[in-house]
Amino acid sequence: MKEVILCKYGELVLKGANKSRFEAMLVRRCRQRAERFGNFTVSARQSTVYVEPMDELCDMDGMLESMCRMPGFNRVSVAAVCDKSMESLRECVREYLPHRMAGVKTFKVEAKRADKAFPLKSPEICAEVGAYILESVRGIRVNVQNPERVVRVEIRENGAYIHFDQLIGAGGMPIGSSGRALLMLSGGIDSPVAGYMMAKRGMTVDALHFESFPYTSERAKEKVLTLAKEVTEYTDCMYVHILSLTHIQEEIKNKCDEDYFTLLLRRFMYVLAERMAKKCHCEALITGESLGQVASQTLEAISVTDAMVQMPVFRPCIGLDKEEIVQISRRIGTFETSILPYEDCCTVFTPRHPRTRPDAAKVAAEAAKLDFDALCDEAFATMYTVKVTPDGFTTFEK
Ligand code: ATP
Ligand code: MG
Repeated sequence: MKEVILCKYGELVLKGANKSRFEAMLVRRCRQRAERFGNFTVSARQSTVYVEPMDELCDMDGMLESMCRMPGFNRVSVAAVCDKSMESLRECVREYLPHRMAGVKTFKVEAKRADKAFPLKSPEICAEVGAYILESVRGIRVNVQNPERVVRVEIRENGAYIHFDQLIGAGGMPIGSSGRALLMLSGGIDSPVAGYMMAKRGMTVDALHFESFPYTSERAKEKVLTLAKEVTEYTDCMYVHILSLTHIQEEIKNKCDEDYFTLLLRRFMYVLAERMAKKCHCEALITGESLGQVASQTLEAISVTDAMVQMPVFRPCIGLDKEEIVQISRRIGTFETSILPYEDCCTVFTPRHPRTRPDAAKVAAEAAKLDFDALCDEAFATMYTVKVTPDGFTTFEK
């Protein structure tokens, strides 16, 4: 029995004149992803991308999972395909469903007739196919109110499809449809979630990670790259730029008021991030900040850091509680890595009493003790890049 993966559009169905451009992006991305899982053909029709295996060696389960993680689709399922006739549907039910629905007690059929030339109307298709199921699957009954399985029959332009296990897709918009942004990626829980959330809205996401060797370890960096790799299950590829803050942190520690350490450091981080963003053609920054979570994430502290950059800063976690962020991180598969206990540059030289309501004049006075531009230039010169994909890392600039 021939099978195909049906990937149904999310918000894309609402797009008017631009829909075909978005559709082309989705198809291109699916084709790229399919290369990992075998010889598939990919095409788009009627608000659905069809992913068809061309031989027995194709990894359907791998491809199905990958499609569920691709921004742009909200429902994904494996369907049996047959000709558009009731005889073929009957044959298909007999062959395809009995062992797949063995042990299922109740079902109902839903039919969609996208091809209006098909002679039977949807309720008639439901009744007929329901009867085929009753005669083919042992011990099964119809339950319209609360069925164990919903068997869906779709009569489409290019064939009839039967499926019964729709999976929830990632939703959102195709990657690349909403521009490019630079994610400030730490080893914590929040920033990978923030990157995922913006990728889901169609952004191509690059990342910038600040290290502080030897105060932060190789293993802490590996952890961040592992997190990036986990996020690429959704985004396909991520360039992670790594930059050292060691000297900046030592200068702050030696010359400035301890209460202002974090805030002064974050001003550097933002400026360096914007500079990097411009260099890699990103038009916005993304952070995992959540209002009030820590001293550097109060409204006053965020105002101080925001004032350092001109680019929009997207903070998709800003209104989420930690528990809500944790839930997303568990769902996307980054949580277990995020909680590995390695240090971050922000936890090096942490002040005992960080300012939650920083005084702008005092911040300026403390900042004036440092040669801001020279320190930025020096930090920027330490930058190197790692290309991260679901298959692993390649360091290609040092
Ligand atoms: P996370 O969001 O990763 O859990 P956090 O909640 O511990 O971090 P902070 O340490 O205050 O919060 O960091 C706030 C944001 O600053 C992070 O979400 C991230 O975007 C950015 N950030 C923090 N540390 C780094 C780092 N080492 N490299 C790059 N960005 C960082
Ligand atoms: Mg954290």
